[in-house]
Amino acid sequence: MASVGFVGLGKMGCLMAARLLQAGHELTVWNRSPAKADTLVRDGATLAANPAEVATAADVVISMLSDDAAVLEIYDQPDGLLSTAVDGKLFIDMSTLRPVTVRELAIRVRGLGAGFADAPVSGTVGPAKDGQLFVFCGASEQDFERAQPILDIFARRIVHAGDVGQGSLLKLVVNLPLAVYWGSLAEAIAMGSQGGLDPQLMLETIKDSSAALAVLPLKIPTILGASEPVAFDVKSMQKDLRSMLATGGETGVQMRMAEGALAAYSAAAESGLGSSDAVAIVEYLIDNATPHAKE
Ligand code: NAP
Repeated sequence: MASVGFVGLGKMGCLMAARLLQAGHELTVWNRSPAKADTLVRDGATLAANPAEVATAADVVISMLSDDAAVLEIYDQPDGLLSTAVDGKLFIDMSTLRPVTVRELAIRVRGLGAGFADAPVSGTVGPAKDGQLFVFCGASEQDFERAQPILDIFARRIVHAGDVGQGSLLKLVVNLPLAVYWGSLAEAIAMGSQGGLDPQLMLETIKDSSAALAVLPLKIPTILGASEPVAFDVKSMQKDLRSMLATGGETGVQMRMAEGALAAYSAAAESGLGSSDAVAIVEYLIDNATPHAKE
């Protein structure tokens, strides 16, 4: 069984790494804030002092980090993943990144004799814990075959979308309508609230209508103010929308919906909601409706 390394033990990464241990893989982990590795270490993982130690110990190295800058830092820093001999290893990045970032990274990784796959996921902390994520993989045929048994541990379904970068592109394709959906739902609920409709009544009505999204029932308690653990936060939504706008811009696509959604999430983040669940956009728009308009 392959020895696996995991870098980035945030909300998603710690749950995914736990599944590797449960599947019987030898696991070496690293996280910038080492305390997040405590449970994994108690359950049998080895804690590395830096990313280079992970790459040395493992045949397959997975990264699950916030954004493009964090991933590049972990690969390129002096004691980073690529600072040690990596010939013959396979790197799988599962963060949501810009396609151009993973394509450029893959060229450098392949130049060192290693394989590379981008494999971002759809689904949040519940599916991550249960191995029910939807994985969008970009890789050569050979690297995909090697990655698949590991990705299976996290996934209810894997789509091999093409070579490196296509997994990340497909992930942005899937997330764009979702980002716009939550933004438009927020505007709808704020508008109805201003006119005197009860938010719960509106949400229950939408849930039973053709405007419902599969994930909406799970999010209604959070939208109505229940203190559920944060799954996907406002600043991650901003990051994804910026990636969509950059990617659309590179290919000449007009992205007015994504621009509007980014403006709304950015306003929510500036008001202090950056680390709140992305559906906090609803609360933000209700709270920021002008008192004059409420009368
Ligand atoms: P998270 O909880 O915020 O965790 C982010 C991870 O990145 C942490 O391990 C953090 O380390 C690390 N990190 C950030 N900047 C770093 C840097 N400069 N150097 C080293 N480490 C750094 O994020 P998450 O929700 O798990 O999401 C991870 C990725 O999955 C993101 O790309 C996100 O878009 C994607 N995703 C998330 C969800 C979701 O529902 N949460 C769903 C699908 C996809 P520290 O612990 O030290 O801060």
